[in-house]
Amino acid sequence: MSDIRLEGVSKRYGSVAAADNVDLTVAQGEFVTILGPSGSGKTTLLSLIAGLTAPTAGRIFIGGRDVTAAPAQQRNIGLVFQSYALFPHMSVLENVLFPLGVRKIGGAEARGRAIEALKQVRLDGLENRRPSQLSGGQQQRVALARAIVFKPDILLLDEPLGALDRKLREELQVELKQLQRTLGITTLLVTHDQEEALSLSDRIMVLNHGKTQQVAGPAEAYLKPANRFVAEFLGIANFVALPDGGQGLVRPERIRLSANGGGKPARIVEAIYLGQMVRYHLALTGALDGAPAMVAAAPFVGPAYSPGEQVSVSWESADVWPVT
Ligand code: ADP
Ligand code: MG
Repeated sequence: MSDIRLEGVSKRYGSVAAADNVDLTVAQGEFVTILGPSGSGKTTLLSLIAGLTAPTAGRIFIGGRDVTAAPAQQRNIGLVFQSYALFPHMSVLENVLFPLGVRKIGGAEARGRAIEALKQVRLDGLENRRPSQLSGGQQQRVALARAIVFKPDILLLDEPLGALDRKLREELQVELKQLQRTLGITTLLVTHDQEEALSLSDRIMVLNHGKTQQVAGPAEAYLKPANRFVAEFLGIANFVALPDGGQGLVRPERIRLSANGGGKPARIVEAIYLGQMVRYHLALTGALDGAPAMVAAAPFVGPAYSPGEQVSVSWESADVWPVT
């Protein structure tokens, strides 16, 4: 059963098409990420689904019901934004109780649900704190608890981890994924971070200028991008000439380096240590191939190549994906 369906959805702001004829079907319980650069229309799409803004054209279905004209409060959606948007004068518990009060749920029932939601985001024990007495990560957990406490049909998350530092962001990514799986809640996450999209999602929708570029599973989008934009937005792409005159891409980890020849001669320009991996920037020194500069990535199991070293570069034809 599809939980969210967009049919030809467009949103214009004057001459800007913030959403341009977007189709999307999200299945019950699925985790889909909308990935795109700043200004590509990610927030616009979430706002349209949430009912915070109305489309210029197209139809929006939630749980099979046409909600195109339905106001936000009739859509039973949990929302989390990058700015935590907590009520500063209320305690953590009062913040989480708030959406229940709006829905006329009070007393022991409300309290029980709020405590349960706070447990689910691992904040039990902090019920009486004010938001200002919490870290950024904790505040975002409160926002998450507030978004799930009324058992929404759908969870919409707009760059929820964007304000957090890297380590905390990675921790919360894992927790978010676990929570989503436990609740089985249909989730749409917006991010401009390709690693976040690749690591969290069942499927990724790549957006540019309000237009869908590709909807695919993470591995497919990464290895079989629909076009050059997706290829470059999802990571580093080496573009190589194809026999038919077209272009193909090879991802850095599929490039093999050897000190013993057998491939194309190249010089190591830069070796960048990334922890688990080393990234090599290479200059092909033989006949120009349409790919004079390349990037390779290899697990760091030392010793690594050094800048200036001569190596030979090769790749399997199966790792070349044609791009347009
Ligand atoms: P993203 O979330 O991917 O950064 P947005 O959905 O916020 O992108 O914006 C998409 C485009 O629509 C941008 O060009 C933005 O300037 C424009 N836009 C968004 N909201 C409005 C608005 N309320 N009025 C006018 N233009 C808007
Ligand atoms: Mg946005």
